[in-house]
Amino acid sequence: MFEDFFININIMIALIFTYMKIRWSIREETHSAWKSYVIDGLCGGLLGWALMHFSIRVGTETLVDLRFIPILLMFLFIGKIPTFISVVFIACIRFIYGVNISSYSALVMLISLFIGYVFIEKFTPKEDSVIVRGMYMVIYSNIVISILLYYVVRDFNILIALTPTYWVMGSIAGLSSILLVNYMRTSEYLYRKYENESTIDFLTGLKNVRNFDSIWKYSEELANKKGKPLSLIMLDIDHFKRINDTYGHAAGDFVLMEISRIMEEVVGNKGSVFRKGGEEFAIILPLFRKEQAEEMAENVRSRVERHRFAVDDETKLSVTISCGYVSYPEIVKQTDNMVELADVALYQAKETGRNKVLSL
Ligand code: GH3
Ligand code: MG
Ligand code: MG
Repeated sequence: MFEDFFININIMIALIFTYMKIRWSIREETHSAWKSYVIDGLCGGLLGWALMHFSIRVGTETLVDLRFIPILLMFLFIGKIPTFISVVFIACIRFIYGVNISSYSALVMLISLFIGYVFIEKFTPKEDSVIVRGMYMVIYSNIVISILLYYVVRDFNILIALTPTYWVMGSIAGLSSILLVNYMRTSEYLYRKYENESTIDFLTGLKNVRNFDSIWKYSEELANKKGKPLSLIMLDIDHFKRINDTYGHAAGDFVLMEISRIMEEVVGNKGSVFRKGGEEFAIILPLFRKEQAEEMAENVRSRVERHRFAVDDETKLSVTISCGYVSYPEIVKQTDNMVELADVALYQAKETGRNKVLSL
């Protein structure tokens, strides 16, 4: 029996681990909520089925299994809808195995578990951690399963012999799977957070320099391989140091954030906006020809010029920016030095009076 239990718990942990990993990679592509509900629900059901298949033999006749665990995990970590799908799925499979008192009691068990979990979720205090709530659900599941076992077995002696063992096994398996999923979820969350932070600028939320390098490289390759146009705009706030010196660093930060927002609004999904550092920005515009790039830069410049920056209650500042841009293939015949040349154009815009858009 302990051997069975050991096998069961290992299969379960291996399957949960594999599924969680696959789930995260699928979710990157699947944006429809219903699609992921159904996928989650079916996979939870399959896991339940697998566990049903490797039932634990207790005594000579009775088989118990850890099928409640996928349902519990699904409910605790994912949500009611996929849990409901899993419940229906497992119930259907159970009936395919045979229509008898055991399959009916399995159906009652699944429904009772689902309803009980809904109540536990509703009535446990919000400040209780997911692990505490999970433990309540494990205890509740053990109670439900013990009661149903009694109805199936109808033998008090077997039941008394069985219940403590089942409770210990159910609790160990339940708690370890909750801890596993919780651990995996936390580490995945942190991994994504750090990955995001390493490519996103903290102040403005724009993509950062590191991101610029990789996206620029990719855009260049695409332009070269397919011979498609590509434009790049470099932007720098005019006399930004004065804003910091006159109104303080926080006001400077506010201007940086507002200008970032304006740039994102103007560019939309036609290109990518980056904070290259300090008060310098870049806009990569794949497929943009010279005239389109110039128009885009001019739009950003004029929007910033017209905007009033409310740095404090009394002060509404006017700020200007200078832009330099290059376009392939109209201005440069190859993409190699576009970044340096856009910088040169920006420098010339500064030198010749600021608040303007220039190309080479
Ligand atoms: P120019 O028109 O020639 O570009 O003049 P400028 O004053 O904008 O340029 P300069 O390079 O002399 O000054 C840039 C200033 O930007 C200096 C630096 O303190 C400030 N700065 C850089 N990063 C930040 C930031 O994150 N927040 C704030 N508030 N200021 C920043
Ligand atoms: Mg500047
Ligand atoms: Mg600068």
